[in-house]
Amino acid sequence: MTRDALVAKARRPFDAVCVRCKAETCAPTEVGSVERASGPPVVLYACPRCVLGTGAGPTPGEDISPPRAPAGATGAPE
Ligand SMILES: [Zn+2]
Repeated sequence: MTRDALVAKARRPFDAVCVRCKAETCAPTEVGSVERASGPPVVLYACPRCVLGTGAGPTPGEDISPPRAPAGATGAPE
């Protein structure tokens, strides 16, 4: 390891603004998203202090479509 590796500027961690308290946090948790007409949805984040009190909505990475019935299943009792 070189000296430069130890003293070089560290990359700034990913930070986001908490959707509840509006404080900037470097440990954000996805709690929802807002669809936009143009472009990808905006992901909403909460800080560690607010994450438990913030309702968790679907995030862009989650699939919320209803489960599909297996092939051949009609759903009707026989
Ligand atoms: Zn917060």
